[in-house]
Amino acid sequence: MMVGASLHDDVEEILLDSQAVAGRVAELGAQIASDYAGRDPVLVSVLKGAMVFMADLMRAMDLPCSIDLMELSSYGSGTESTGQVRIIKDLSSPIYGRDVIVVEDIIDTGLTLNYLLRYLADKGPASIRIVCLLDKPARRLADIDIDYVGFTIPDRFVIGYGLDYAERYRNLPYVGVLKPSVYSGPPPEA
Ligand code: 5GP
Repeated sequence: MMVGASLHDDVEEILLDSQAVAGRVAELGAQIASDYAGRDPVLVSVLKGAMVFMADLMRAMDLPCSIDLMELSSYGSGTESTGQVRIIKDLSSPIYGRDVIVVEDIIDTGLTLNYLLRYLADKGPASIRIVCLLDKPARRLADIDIDYVGFTIPDRFVIGYGLDYAERYRNLPYVGVLKPSVYSGPPPEA
């Protein structure tokens, strides 16, 4: 990467600016806090993409809750789902009898989430609901009911607000689409 080059130069279009994201995350947090009033859910987030969303969402919820983190791999560094899911990091605490809220960044084919839901259901939680920031229904292969959706977006590969391309761009404060030249150019320097 060139010295002084801006990450923003690689972005073709901003789909959701940081104000739009913050406003919607505040609404989701308030809705979840009201739906779970009197309960003490555990938010299970999927690293790494959902960490930014999780960090903002939990602070938008005025509710006692705990968090746990899992890491799954499904995409490698490309842009197509392989359908292969591997657990890289498991839950730290049992979820037996707990109200689980799975916090996802984006649902595309749904294969990753489908796997995760079956895995979590086997551990005997009292309930499982799903909150995802971005829903891309165009390529859905698994039939999944998403309880809370931030935004429904078209079938484009997006980056920013936690989402990466080849591990880059997670720190962009908005959700955007990369310039095609980024995909066709040389891989980013390590
Ligand atoms: P699925 O199994 O639903 O096809 O894919 C889920 C995972 O693939 C997401 O958690 C995310 O890591 C990745 N993914 C799907 N679509 C996109 C996208 O548009 N941009 C990025 N950066 N990752 C995506």
